[in-house]
This record gives sequence, structure tokens and C-alpha cells, in this order.
Amino acid sequence: MTDKPAWLAGEWYDKDSTTGSSDDGEIRRFFMKPGEERKLIFLTDAETPQPVWEHKVFHTGTKMPSFHTCLRESEGNCPLCDWHSEHGKVPARKTLFMTVIDVEGFVSNRTQKAYTNLKRLYAITSSSSIELLSKRVNRLIDGGKNLRGAQFMIGRTTNDKSPASGDDFEYLEHIDLDTLEDTAEYDYEAITKPDPEAVKRCVERLKTEIEAVSKPVDEADIPF
Ligand SMILES: [Zn+2]
Repeated sequence: MTDKPAWLAGEWYDKDSTTGSSDDGEIRRFFMKPGEERKLIFLTDAETPQPVWEHKVFHTGTKMPSFHTCLRESEGNCPLCDWHSEHGKVPARKTLFMTVIDVEGFVSNRTQKAYTNLKRLYAITSSSSIELLSKRVNRLIDGGKNLRGAQFMIGRTTNDKSPASGDDFEYLEHIDLDTLEDTAEYDYEAITKPDPEAVKRCVERLKTEIEAVSKPVDEADIPF
């Protein structure tokens, strides 16, 4: 079939294109811990996801990474790509974005309240996970179904390097989306809009963090 998007047609692996991501603001990304299993309902049709090149940055003292769309395609060059090549960090990653419902959600430690059916941005970058999910989705399409409304049990192996989006996909059933409150997809274009100012601020912050590490903390700490 030629009308399939690249990720379903097995054409994910030619990393020949780049596109521009900004911070995701209020939108929460789905992630799971090693060894976890989660039930997800996809709200995205198989034809929708388009690859976006994205940088994932961990700032000192923060638990959660920040994400920036690579600027190479929109601006011609990208300060984060330059930073990564100078400092040997992970370069931009080709990412697919989808919208999912995290069926079981979580229970608040503080209030013990259960939050279920939570809408989340599902970002998947691992080639092997995409390959596996694309096989499952191709099987759905061959059977006359699509991805939207499909409920999967997704597992993450205990391997340290296993992706936070999971690396095991078991199709369970299709769900009647009318039974859910909010089934609108995220605006991926808005989420991944290149943001040169945010990238600039991010690189400035990285520079400060490097300087803080390489400078003696206090003169009193020097023992002579
Ligand atoms: Zn870049």
C-alpha cells in the first residue's frame, strides 16, 4: 500500500528530514515507569501522526525534561543541535505525537482521590516501539478498523533503556468513544510549533548550568 503514512509503511528509519517543538505548556505527556502496564485508548487515526524532530533537555535541579522542536528545518540552524554536537549529548529525536486516554489514571498520594480517563499527549520516539505498534495497527487496518478508539494494554519492560512510552503493545478492543467526555485530539501543530526564543533561553540556561558545575562553589572551600 502506498497511501500509508511512513510509520505504518516501515519507512520510519530513514532519518532524512527534520522539522521544527516548543514547551508543551499545560499539556501533560504520558509516560510510564519501568515494569509498568497501562491501559490506553487512542484518539488518533493511524493516518494522522507526522514525524517531528524534537530535543529533550534535562535542566539541573528539575525532575521533568523540557522539550523543544528542532529549529533546523524552520530556521536553517538550531542552537540546541549545536549545543548537542559540542557537548556530546543526545541529538534531536524523530518523534510521533498522538492523543490517548490513560484509562486507569492515578490515585493522588495526598488526597487519595482517583483520577481516571485522563487525556495525555503520547510521544513515541523509539524505533523498535514504533515498529511494534505499527505492526499492531496495520493488523487493525487489515481487519477494517483504525487506531482511533482502540484500547491497548501497553507495557514497559524493566530494562533501564526501555522507552517511557512503553515497548509492548497488546490490542484489547475498540471502545465506544461516545462514552468518554473529551475525545478531541490535541493540536499537534500548535504543540510542535518551532519557538526560537524558547530554544535560545534553553541554551542560555544550559550554559549557566555548565558554568555553575565548573566553578568552585566558594573560595572558603579551597584548602589553602
Ligand atoms: Zn536541533
